[in-house]
Amino acid sequence: MIAQADLGMLDGLERALLNGRLHMAYQPKVSLRDGSLRRVEALVRWDDPELGAVPPSRFVPLAERHGLIDDLTQWGLRTTLRQWRKWQDEGIDTDLAFNISAVSLDQLDFPDLVERMCRALAVPTERLVLELTEGATQPLIKLMDTLTRFRIKGIGLAIDDFGVGYSTLMQLRQLPFTELKIDRFFVQDSPQEQDSALIVRSIIDLAHGLGLSVTAEGVETPAQLRLLRALECDIAQGYLVSQPLAPDTLGAWYESWKKQ
Ligand code: C2E
Ligand code: CA
Ligand code: CA
Ligand code: CA
Repeated sequence: MIAQADLGMLDGLERALLNGRLHMAYQPKVSLRDGSLRRVEALVRWDDPELGAVPPSRFVPLAERHGLIDDLTQWGLRTTLRQWRKWQDEGIDTDLAFNISAVSLDQLDFPDLVERMCRALAVPTERLVLELTEGATQPLIKLMDTLTRFRIKGIGLAIDDFGVGYSTLMQLRQLPFTELKIDRFFVQDSPQEQDSALIVRSIIDLAHGLGLSVTAEGVETPAQLRLLRALECDIAQGYLVSQPLAPDTLGAWYESWKKQ
């Protein structure tokens, strides 16, 4: 049984996809070493005339369960890669991070599709990072073949939300990740809480030992930033650096950030 509210939302999402009512927001991530722009993460947004702003944490899982996720992913990827092309032409030098639902990874030809899309726009696959979250229904280990194909094409793979949910140490050893993202749950408490700081330090050391670069999510305060820098975390993302931005405002953010 699918709940009435979900049914309405699913209907709305299908219409939003058709009518171009979805858009992408882009959040900058910066180097903790020199402050330079390292990546921009694409985040989907849906402003519905009836439902208001629906958060992706609400509608992405719904799309996953009811067969809309492949359309959503392809629309988002196409939109994002085009935007990335524009930024490159404007001289904004950045890698691109895109969230992929594990549900979209059970097709072995998906890496070929992503590569073709990159080629068509002349954007470099080596600077694309796909962010993956371990889910209950689709363990990433089952997707090893697809993940390996991405790596062969030079596409980076980040394990998202590390430390919460279903992510495990086993995956770090078995899967071909290039980056680890520490969930903001640990980042947020780290300056005040010894235990959180210890966990953050351990995750960073572990990831570096395995050859992965480390991004901290949800950095909101200078104290968090200082601690992460002291612990040699590589990249920071969060409201302290920037909120997710509309595509045409990244240029202004970039110019003012460079001057800081
Ligand atoms: P995520 O991949 O962990 O994305 C980071 C989330 O944290 C984003 O929420 C972002 O707006 C928010 N955030 C960034 N900085 C801060 C901060 O300093 N403090 C706090 N409290 N939050 C911060 P958002 O955009 O609502 O996305 C939620 C989740 O939905 C994402 O979590 C991701 O799992 C999923 N998602 C978003 N866009 C897409 C997409 O295009 N495709 C797929 N498959 N999933 C997506
Ligand atoms: Ca993410
Ligand atoms: Ca995350
Ligand atoms: Ca998440």
